[in-house]
Amino acid sequence: MIRPCRCLIGEMPDEAELAEIIRERIELIPEEERTPEKEYAFRLSRCRECEHLQRGTCGQCGCYVEIRAARKWQGCPAVPACWNRLDTAMHNA
Ligand code: SF4
Repeated sequence: MIRPCRCLIGEMPDEAELAEIIRERIELIPEEERTPEKEYAFRLSRCRECEHLQRGTCGQCGCYVEIRAARKWQGCPAVPACWNRLDTAMHNA
């Protein structure tokens, strides 16, 4: 399994390759663990507006937000959270 390492990003040829790796990682998430499309779009919309977003990664946890948001059992690490685990989903306004 390919695992992106943040310390090697500078050695990656371009952002398109990184985007492909992220897409592959998301596809590896079992269907039953994957966030439904509507919730996924909501999560990413919150990340796009977030002051902690840094070139596709979350400044709070270091995750690539597209991967973190794709796992329904993961939540936003900020306090207060901008989006929640799906099993406790109550979107913060
Ligand atoms: S703190 Fe939450 S909303 Fe902000 S970038 Fe990280 S995961 Fe996204």
